[in-house]
Amino acid sequence: MTYDDQNIFARILRNELPAIKVYEDDQVLAFMDIMPQAEGHTLVIPKSPAVTLLDLDPSAAAYTIQIVQKVAKAMEKALDLKGIVLMQLSGTAAGQTVPHVHFHLIPSSVHELGKHAIKMGDHVKIQELADKIKAAL
Ligand code: 5GP
Repeated sequence: MTYDDQNIFARILRNELPAIKVYEDDQVLAFMDIMPQAEGHTLVIPKSPAVTLLDLDPSAAAYTIQIVQKVAKAMEKALDLKGIVLMQLSGTAAGQTVPHVHFHLIPSSVHELGKHAIKMGDHVKIQELADKIKAAL
């Protein structure tokens, strides 16, 4: 699939748009979702330009899932979680809204999840949660 380098996450990766970051290395970025489905909703993205999981280089996918696990463990510790939903939407037909592959870590239950990317979260609260997650990493 053709990659649009003007998509929101590509712009966040280039620091053209702000994000509340919790983890970054040379291959992966993790940051807070701006319209969280639950408190602590975090996104993990590879830096390589891929629209969906199906387009992502397998070695980048393998590395990204290691960071997904690392961030999930920090979230579990920092926010005292009993469960986390790992969600990955590939394709607009699946509900994907941002065309840069990403993994959602949502402190919730599959039974609670509704529509996403609907309502802006409270910036101050999101920053507080991010600080806790960062401290646990
Ligand atoms: P998708 O629907 O593509 O699986 O998920 C995209 C996610 O990105 C949604 O959960 C949405 O709330 C989040 N999102 C959309 N725009 C922004 C933004 O500008 N900044 C951040 N941090 N998250 C965003």
